[in-house]
Amino acid sequence: MDEPLFNFLIQSHEREIIRQAIIDKYFRDCRQAIESVIREEQQIGEHRQLLIQFAEHPFSYQVGSEPVEERNPIRGTAFGREIMRWYNYTCAVCRLRVVTEDGKSITDAAHIIPFRISYKDDIRNGISLCKLHHWAFDEGLISVNERYKVRVSKIISEEGPEEQMFRNLRNRKILLPQDRILYPAQEALVWHRENRFRE
Ligand SMILES: [Zn+2]
Repeated sequence: MDEPLFNFLIQSHEREIIRQAIIDKYFRDCRQAIESVIREEQQIGEHRQLLIQFAEHPFSYQVGSEPVEERNPIRGTAFGREIMRWYNYTCAVCRLRVVTEDGKSITDAAHIIPFRISYKDDIRNGISLCKLHHWAFDEGLISVNERYKVRVSKIISEEGPEEQMFRNLRNRKILLPQDRILYPAQEALVWHRENRFRE
């Protein structure tokens, strides 16, 4: 890209002019659909910024309270994208990272206190987990202690390749976000150990 065009495009107003011109010339028939996607992406972006701002306040939750509002899909998407950003699509427990060219990932943005209980799409109530460890976390077969180390339930009976055994995860430090204020909240981890973990 040549420099004058680059300088033009880094300004949001000018970028919008180009965007509209391209839509008019090449995508006139699907203008509505494109604009709806752009609007949704803008809302998701705004929610992502809000989630970062929330993390500057003390973490709190109220189990069992009525939901303030129904699950907001925009906020849910923002939560998922922020978790993936801070954990780089990597499982916090086993460090597996598998992504596809079309943007699929082996990891989920898991809630530590389930959303249906806490109504909390707070980054500090989230953790990136691969499908296997998401299942084990929700089943209470693994948890995380106060020093961010993995706890493994004693009720597991396992066989298979040694390197994939749950027992080898015991006391392993989990992957944490670079920014300390986004670490999983201790309050959320305590809830998980007391209400989900099966020692
Ligand atoms: Zn994993």
